[in-house]
Amino acid sequence: MKTSKSDISEAVYVGYIRSLFQDVGVLPLGAACFALVSLLLYHKTGGLVYLIFAGLLLFAGTFRYYLINRIDPQQISDYESALYWERRYVLWGTLHGLVVGSFGLVAMVWGDNSFSELAALSLVLGGTITVAGRNYGSRKMVTILTLALVAPLALGLMLKGDIYHFALGLFIVPFIFIIMKMADLVRTVLFTAISEEKRSASLARRFNRALNTMPHGLLMFSPEGRIVVANAQVVELMSFRSTKQMLGRSLKALLSRGVAAGLMERKDVQFAEQQLTRAMREGRDRKVLLRLTDGRHLEFSAREGRDELGVLTFEEVTSRIEAEERVRYMARYDSLTGLPNRAYFNEIVTEFMESSDPARLCGLAVLDLDDFKSINDTLGHPVGDGLIYAVADRLSSFAGDDVKVSRFGGDEFMIFFNRLEGEDDLVLRLDAIFEKLRGDVDVAGHQLRVQLSAGAVLVRADSDDVGAMIVKADLALYTAKEQGKNNWRLFETQMDAAFRSRQTLKADLRSAIEAQSLRVVFQPIIDVRTMQISGCEALCRWDHPELGPISPAEFIPLAEEMGIVSEISTMVLNVACRECARWPEHLRVSVNLSARDFHCSSVVDKVQQILSKSGLAADRLELEVTETALLDDKATTRVYLEELKKLGVTIALDDFGTGYSSLSYLHTLPLDKIKIDGSFLVDVTRNERSLRLLTGVVDLSRNLGLSVTVEGVETFSQLKILTKKVHPDLVQGFLFGSALTASGIETMSDKSWTFGGNTRTALNPASA
Ligand code: C2E
Ligand code: CA
Ligand code: CA
Repeated sequence: MKTSKSDISEAVYVGYIRSLFQDVGVLPLGAACFALVSLLLYHKTGGLVYLIFAGLLLFAGTFRYYLINRIDPQQISDYESALYWERRYVLWGTLHGLVVGSFGLVAMVWGDNSFSELAALSLVLGGTITVAGRNYGSRKMVTILTLALVAPLALGLMLKGDIYHFALGLFIVPFIFIIMKMADLVRTVLFTAISEEKRSASLARRFNRALNTMPHGLLMFSPEGRIVVANAQVVELMSFRSTKQMLGRSLKALLSRGVAAGLMERKDVQFAEQQLTRAMREGRDRKVLLRLTDGRHLEFSAREGRDELGVLTFEEVTSRIEAEERVRYMARYDSLTGLPNRAYFNEIVTEFMESSDPARLCGLAVLDLDDFKSINDTLGHPVGDGLIYAVADRLSSFAGDDVKVSRFGGDEFMIFFNRLEGEDDLVLRLDAIFEKLRGDVDVAGHQLRVQLSAGAVLVRADSDDVGAMIVKADLALYTAKEQGKNNWRLFETQMDAAFRSRQTLKADLRSAIEAQSLRVVFQPIIDVRTMQISGCEALCRWDHPELGPISPAEFIPLAEEMGIVSEISTMVLNVACRECARWPEHLRVSVNLSARDFHCSSVVDKVQQILSKSGLAADRLELEVTETALLDDKATTRVYLEELKKLGVTIALDDFGTGYSSLSYLHTLPLDKIKIDGSFLVDVTRNERSLRLLTGVVDLSRNLGLSVTVEGVETFSQLKILTKKVHPDLVQGFLFGSALTASGIETMSDKSWTFGGNTRTALNPASA
């Protein structure tokens, strides 16, 4: 093994050279022994040379000791200094070795008696043995010293002149190699030790670095539950000055310090400590969340440790906890009103109903704002939201321990009463709620009147579940709406029956559509100038096998609810176009479309295909749409209407005056005609104001470039006023007959109605 920089690392070399300068205490002792033996020889032989050697040996040993001892091994720190000091060491050692070697030679050759030979032999060989132990750090030194000691001795023996001494001299030569080998061995051992130490030191450094830069706090416990490792995060959290301060403490002591510092609550700490200690003891993985008094959250994880050491880590999870809380809140509460949402309400109520006292009475009410949609549509969603918020605000003042309020979605609210005395109690409470909710609210400068309908149900806690209560309350709400809104109704059993029959009716309608058993009839529309039929409106008919004829006013909404109304529209469009194509060319046909037909862009393609299939000129087809369809989604509906108009089809606004009839948007929509609802005619013959209203609407529409049809004309006097004062373009109503079959229209096509001055006599269709 060579001590060059390239062969072994600098650190190992430095380690070797340092070893030369350690534990030199035996040197003066050795020197003293040598000097004494030399003195002994002097005394025995009287040879002056031994006296000189005694002095030389003592001096060489102690001076070498002095020189070595002067040096602090720590000052040998790098390759250069190690090289320097090795040279020094070798120089001193060589001088010392030469002195001892010469003594051996002199005593052997010139001693001339067996004692001096014995002294030389034992002393020099004894010294040789120590060479390896003392100087293994420098191979050069070992070589030189062994040579300096053994070679003169061997030489001295061989010079004795007899064969025995010669052989002895020869045999001690291998000593040189043995000693050198021993030194090599020791050096190897040392090399391994130094490398190991180096490796573990760097491992420890890395481990420390990893430990103290990780975001987690980490603690390791001995089997006795005492801290043996703690990283910087723990030190910082617990405001210790150093890791050392923490070692030997228990988890309990550590956490108590946190409590004392006001960082943690005692009760939280007790729980956490028990759970974690048990987990570590039982070797289970366990997580415990600890809330700090400053609002931060730490998550402790106990892990099964190796070698029976428990490992505890913790990390700050405040943002995760906050996010979880936000998500949980969002999942449970409505973002606009802050009220529990549908899912959470169901959860709360279920829990309530399953709790104690199953015989008590519970109540549930579903509240729904009347015509909320049109507020949204006409004033915009922000105003709609404002109204919902205002209602929620008033409603939440009723919420309490036993009363839970929820926004169920849209404009629908739920109230649950956990404990009611009886029906009167429920009535009183709901009346109070209605009282509070009704009235005007100011939303962004708009004075809005809150009108709502509600359905309520009263049950024994153990008789129904939330789902059943909601169905019943919904049925009651449905009835309340049907009966004119702005009111509330309590659920009655027959509502359930009505609901069930409604479900049966839906199924029957589906079958009727599939069996193509719906019919189309046509109601004449009369041109006021010529009093001749100018076209007709296609109306759908359903003859129920058991219930007889069912009004489209009833089954069309059902079909809309079921999402199958477009199938009806398609059927009616097909029949209407086919029939109209056979009629004289001056007759046109109107077909009613539902709001739902405009939910899909295919409506345009459908109309086009049906027109081309029937061969009907597009300008003979009129489509009637209601305000609801137009308001549903103005942007897309407008696009579809414009595309339809491009086909050449005309568009009429149906039932004007029944909804939120606002003339303001009429001119912005691609309309050709408006059809004024029959309700405008009701007292037009008796009431001047009604007449003025009707005339106003007609004039205004005409100014907007729209032609006008008045529907629901039933009497002569109505017709008279219309022709004399109102001047619509077209009229329609039972006065001119109810709906006919297609062939009936064809026969009527060239008839004109005479209007014989006396409005009391029947109008007779006269041949043209
Ligand atoms: P609508 O579009 O206003 O149709 C006119 C309704 O008024 C028809 O009722 C008609 O029979 C009725 N009527 C006609 N003249 C008079 C009158 O002088 N006095 C009174 N009081 N009523 C008169 P019908 O056929 O029961 O239809 C009701 C509603 O059902 C229709 O009202 C229309 O909105 C809808 N509807 C009918 N057929 C269809 C259809 O094929 N598709 C769609 N989407 N809706 C349809
Ligand atoms: Ca119509
Ligand atoms: Ca109408």
